[in-house]
Amino acid sequence: MKDENILQGCVIFFSGILSCSILLIIFLIWFNPQYVKNTAQKAREAPVEILKQLTFVRERGNNFQNINEKNPAAILMYHYVRNVDKNIDPTGFSLSVSPTDFRAQIDYLSQNYNIIDFGDFTRGNIPDRAVILTFDDGYQDFYDNVLPVLREYKAPATIYIITEKIGQSGYLSAREILLLSKTNLITIGSHTVSHPNLSTANISNQIREISESRKTLEKITGQKIENVSFPSGKYNDETWQILKTYRFKTAVTIQEGLAYKTKNLFELPRVRVSGSMSLDGLKQKLDDFFQNSQTGGSGAGV
Ligand SMILES: [Zn+2]
Repeated sequence: MKDENILQGCVIFFSGILSCSILLIIFLIWFNPQYVKNTAQKAREAPVEILKQLTFVRERGNNFQNINEKNPAAILMYHYVRNVDKNIDPTGFSLSVSPTDFRAQIDYLSQNYNIIDFGDFTRGNIPDRAVILTFDDGYQDFYDNVLPVLREYKAPATIYIITEKIGQSGYLSAREILLLSKTNLITIGSHTVSHPNLSTANISNQIREISESRKTLEKITGQKIENVSFPSGKYNDETWQILKTYRFKTAVTIQEGLAYKTKNLFELPRVRVSGSMSLDGLKQKLDDFFQNSQTGGSGAGV
């Protein structure tokens, strides 16, 4: 009887210690400041929209016909996709494509061209009639007016961000850039920190503009930033050295023409899509470029 009491006492004693230890561990984890901080951060960074976006993975297969690294690609250059009154803001109008026109263009391109991204291009997976979509400056309307259309047509695109503008009125926020990067459809590229003229900036300024914008975007997205758009298409030999040092893969200019993987990847020409251009105008411009490329010309509209 006495032994039984001792045994029972021991069981209760050790059960008590075990329960207390578990409670203490739970208490320490729960109230650990670092744990609380990390959890709060994760909660901020992974709201429902991010989880939804994560389930959206590009289903586009590379089942293109006639892939050849010598094929040219038309790198289309957009800025804003929004409605602007030509009379009130003529400059803004020329940089803007209306949401209705944009949808019509992507609809046409997805049926008549192969929309690829810079990953396909640099790997040499370039089909006949290849098009790459690019957007300069990082305007907020990309999120509202461009992304839904690209998702609908599963069309990849690259957007080049001016990092000091992030979060300012009319520009994408860090959170929107993160969400875009998670879609697996959008490539985030650098458009420098402050959009300077790189051809006249001294080398230390150039390094700062390129490396800091890259660092900021890598911090936001957690991804490597490998593509650049030169502000106003300006650059010099030093710019190329910096891009090489920082292991960028491509750089686009505002020179008009088709891009070839076999040429210098740090001065890729583009095809401007301006606000005044009708769908027929874009069709004609692309037809002229691709027909000229077949006959060995340098491309129309230079
Ligand atoms: Zn720009």
